Amino acid sequence: MNSPLLPGSTIGILGSGQLGRMLAIAAKQLGYRVAIYSPETNTPAGQVADVEAVGDYLDEERLADFAQRVSVITFEFENVPSRASEVAAQHTIVRPTGSVLHITQERLREKAFLRDHGFPTTPFCAVKSYAELRAATRELGLPAVLKTASFGYDGKGQQKVYAQSDLERVFAALGGAVGIYEAWVDFEKEISVVAARTADGQFAAYPVFENRHAHHILDVTFAPATISPQLAKEATDLAAGILEKLGVIGLLTVEMFVTKSGELLVNELAPRTHNSGHLTIDACTTSQFEQQIRAVCCLPLGSTALRHPAAMANLLGDVWSKGEPNWAAALRDPDVKLHLYGKAEARKGRKMGHLTAGALGVEAAIERVISARERLLS
Ligand code: AMP
Repeated sequence: MNSPLLPGSTIGILGSGQLGRMLAIAAKQLGYRVAIYSPETNTPAGQVADVEAVGDYLDEERLADFAQRVSVITFEFENVPSRASEVAAQHTIVRPTGSVLHITQERLREKAFLRDHGFPTTPFCAVKSYAELRAATRELGLPAVLKTASFGYDGKGQQKVYAQSDLERVFAALGGAVGIYEAWVDFEKEISVVAARTADGQFAAYPVFENRHAHHILDVTFAPATISPQLAKEATDLAAGILEKLGVIGLLTVEMFVTKSGELLVNELAPRTHNSGHLTIDACTTSQFEQQIRAVCCLPLGSTALRHPAAMANLLGDVWSKGEPNWAAALRDPDVKLHLYGKAEARKGRKMGHLTAGALGVEAAIERVISARERLLS
């Protein structure tokens, strides 16, 4: 199990979005063949893969057939039903394992795992009924945020709760789904640690990223984060502990809040590459995508060194509001790099691509990438 899967082998990826696309590109660069499995066609990942298999995640026969043709299966998103990873595991190596997916695809399970293993996390309560919601407000107070326990990302399925008078509305918005009520954290900043772990015990984390959100969606990430070296070490150690306890083989991202008093609270785990790690493609020795491939293939992990301060700005569908964005204007700055994900339809809030900029200092990198994005609308 710990012998390396060498270039030339085929890597199977479940999921076909932009993370799968960048993962596939990294795998191809290393000389692997790539097969994608998802329910859709002409997908961001499928466009660059050797094989784009189309099937439902619960179509056991199709999935088994796919698994038999690849040397290892990994994921580009965690909302693949755990049954799919069980089926795949009967036929090939699956990294990370289905149990990691199972824990991280449901917020209550994930938060309970963190709490039970002594990792600091936002105070939370399960909400399965209106009575439990009322009890949660008494226990954790207001303001708070009510999230759906499953299938939430980018702020989807989240409602801020300000007062008792909001309860009926936010409960109705859950639409019968199980919810998680979290105390509102008046944080100082948001950071993330992307880290990899291999079957033979190697571990490597990227420098801490700092994240700014707009409307609950990641807007800008920059590195290095503007936190003390001591806090950066604490965040990295926390991530190392989580990967170890979960038994991750592959890559995992830990999103954290830095509170006003300088404490770390884990907000969310993603058992995969992350939007905040996109700047690693242009600014680090090894990209997060290459690192995931190295980790799941049991190759030596690459250096995570940041070669220079860098910033990444997301390009949402909104950038197309005035027609085709002015790409040439954004790229007028030779230190700006453009990444587009091959999505045909630019919907509002949909992640279509990103820009990365490097500079001598982090503030300059942020300024550069934001100006480039503004020029898209010129
Ligand atoms: P999530 O989907 O849990 O990652 O949440 C998306 C974003 O909403 C986070 O990155 C935060 O900016 C914000 N958020 C989520 N939960 C909380 C919380 N308990 N307190 C404050 N802000 C939050």
